[in-house]
Amino acid sequence: MAPYASANPITSTVPFDRDGTHHGFLRLPCSREDSAWGSIMIPITVLHNGRGPTALLSGGNHGDEYEGPLALQGLAHDLDPADINGRVIIVPFMNMPAFAAGRRTSPLDGLNMNRCFPGSPDGSPTQKIADYFLHTLLPMANVVLDFHSGGKTLDFIPFAAAHVLDDADQQAACVAAMEAFNAPYSMLLREIDAVGMYDTAAEEAGKVFVSTELGGGGSATARSARIARRGAENLLKHAGILAGEIKRENSLSIDTTGPGCFHLAETGGMVEFLLDLGDTVSEGQTIAQLWSTERTGVPPQTIAARSTGILAARHFPGLIAAGDCLAVVAAVA
Ligand code: ZN
Repeated sequence: MAPYASANPITSTVPFDRDGTHHGFLRLPCSREDSAWGSIMIPITVLHNGRGPTALLSGGNHGDEYEGPLALQGLAHDLDPADINGRVIIVPFMNMPAFAAGRRTSPLDGLNMNRCFPGSPDGSPTQKIADYFLHTLLPMANVVLDFHSGGKTLDFIPFAAAHVLDDADQQAACVAAMEAFNAPYSMLLREIDAVGMYDTAAEEAGKVFVSTELGGGGSATARSARIARRGAENLLKHAGILAGEIKRENSLSIDTTGPGCFHLAETGGMVEFLLDLGDTVSEGQTIAQLWSTERTGVPPQTIAARSTGILAARHFPGLIAAGDCLAVVAAVA
């Protein structure tokens, strides 16, 4: 058995403990209709030099979010092991089948990577990837960054996020790392449903964990891609892995821990937002109106803000269905 194999069927074609830059794959055997005895090849880069800490950087947890994959492809290409002290493990396309299909979830098993932790070593492809991250990659890491954006259906103001945690010291370490990432907004987050998230798995393993939401709509902008790259480099500097000054600009502290932040559509329709991302919102103000797509002459249904703050996220497509996330209003700290 190779020294870097695990009980999970995924094997790495690169070593984790040898100095230098190693580009290769996490190879997941997946015999299927279009590839008998085939494997899913998940690109990975490991940079190692000296005895410093380990950062685990991932994008493509959801396959239709691009800021993370762009920043991590750039870093994997540009980072020189001579410039680091420790180890950087880079997985730009965590859920490779989803990323290859340009989809949030995997076309192989329909699973949302960020809702299937702890995964399973003998489960479906997405479950196997989750299990491999939990039991093989996470234990090596001190600092963990998992990039997200809104994907095809949401758009966000660009923020890095840390979670409200039971352990105050761990929360403080995560908040410090989030502030070092230095996105234009820094978010203290309480998830709607934290069960099965990679975030939760990393936090329960005691890691310093930072997540992001940097844009959305199923693409990246010049600005959001720059924020992603600079943030990853800042985090490596904060961890002591990369030398140099953290590049800091103003970052507005926001949070969605209070009641009334999340706004779900209760009917379907065509969305007209009356505010744009980053605009200030007062409780009771109309955020959006939903027009009928079936007939004329019908008044729109208006969606009033349930709290005061700024518009931090919005539904991206022009049409919305009942139960979709319409908007998130974040409080300004
Ligand atoms: Zn995501």
